[in-house]
Amino acid sequence: MIGGTKASIARICFLLTFLGTACSQSISDPTYNPDEVSTNLGEVESRENGPDLEFRYHDHDQMTRYLRSVSARYPALTALYSIGKSVQGRDLWVMVVSASPYEHMIGKPDVKYVGNIHGNEAVGRELILHLIQYLVTSYDTDPYIKWLLDNTRIHLMPSMNPDGFAISKEGQCDNTYGRHNARRYDLNRNFPDFFKANTKQPQPETEAIKEWISKIQFVLSGSLHGGALVASYPFDNTPSARICRSSVLCSVFQSYAHTPSIAPDDDVFRHLSLVYSNNHAKMSRGVSCKQGSPKFDKGITNGAAWYPLTGGMQDYNYLWHGCMEITLEISCCKYPPAHELPKYWQDNKQSLIKYLAEAHRGAHGFVMDENGNPVERAAIKVKGRDVTYHTTKYGEFWRILLPGTYRIDVSGEGYLPQEVEFIVIDSHPTLLNITLHSAKGYISKAVGVPSGTSLKTTSLPTATTSPVQDGAIVFPED
Ligand SMILES: [Zn+2]
Repeated sequence: MIGGTKASIARICFLLTFLGTACSQSISDPTYNPDEVSTNLGEVESRENGPDLEFRYHDHDQMTRYLRSVSARYPALTALYSIGKSVQGRDLWVMVVSASPYEHMIGKPDVKYVGNIHGNEAVGRELILHLIQYLVTSYDTDPYIKWLLDNTRIHLMPSMNPDGFAISKEGQCDNTYGRHNARRYDLNRNFPDFFKANTKQPQPETEAIKEWISKIQFVLSGSLHGGALVASYPFDNTPSARICRSSVLCSVFQSYAHTPSIAPDDDVFRHLSLVYSNNHAKMSRGVSCKQGSPKFDKGITNGAAWYPLTGGMQDYNYLWHGCMEITLEISCCKYPPAHELPKYWQDNKQSLIKYLAEAHRGAHGFVMDENGNPVERAAIKVKGRDVTYHTTKYGEFWRILLPGTYRIDVSGEGYLPQEVEFIVIDSHPTLLNITLHSAKGYISKAVGVPSGTSLKTTSLPTATTSPVQDGAIVFPED
């Protein structure tokens, strides 16, 4: 539902799924007054406030003013919050763009893009600002964007590393100056790692992301980088990294091994990467950026097959939180001249939008108890895929899957586990509502049955499944 007046900001702020504190840093910030923003706009800001966001780089203050002006101008479609601060105290801004910006829509997915994790990889930062602009100005005129925003909450973080960006230089294509945060840590090597203990000291930017994604169940995500043109998918690290702990030579060998590290959802990750690559103006051609740099078949690659790394963000999203994240390398030059930005926007616009819509592919639904109450933290495991997803506090789950027949195991503490078969088709998500029955009640009932009665003979309720159920989200035509 679209709503949102200034009078209701305090109330809806309270309702934000995440962020009492972050909400107060932006929307309820006593230093921030939407009226003040709109009346004190200088010449630059007033141009930014309109639909014609300029194609130029925005420093942190300019970016902050732009985000605030959009949130003031489009209160029914946007919410601005900060998930924390960088080492040097810059806000890590996130703008939600959705028909329900302040409140999670139960049963509908939250998705995200994170830009500029490497401070000198600047194109993604600007493209996210343009994506915000495009979404809010297209909602009333483009049925596809309306469908997307009506059914998805899109969280857009233009810069995860504003300190690194602050020292980066426009026109620098290949160097690493500005890549790290202010304490010289590479933030895309700073996450907990499944394959190898990560001994790097956690940084405030990384901690903020970890907190953020522990509080919102993101279904799908993209991390925007520069320096290549490819969509790279998990795993970034490889199981054999475990045996390399004590051997420098082994580590060196590993980093040049180019061996794929296959995730349980490899088919889905390849598909998601292809959606980005095939909708991009040139990524799918797989042309190398320069002589000697790799060519990528169809513009996609397994992360470890390109080069293995420890502590990356995408593996963490997937293995810790069931969020399917891929790494999008969107510019050969890390920080190209600003006059090239319109070309990058045109090349990536379709990809950025179509990729997010993939959150509506596969199966989703609710796990409830026999009284209709949601079962939180129920474990969802697709047979043959050794990775566990969990339900939210509303009992929701999402599982992006390609067309086919699947079986899932659903289990929750204190409940009898259940196995459910379902199909996934291409054009609609499959709605799966699963009822779990209390193990306690089951056992106490079982005590009263005649000896010799097998527990297995008691019939268990089945799940309701429907790939075309009324009310299911349907992919609209373009
Ligand atoms: Zn990067």
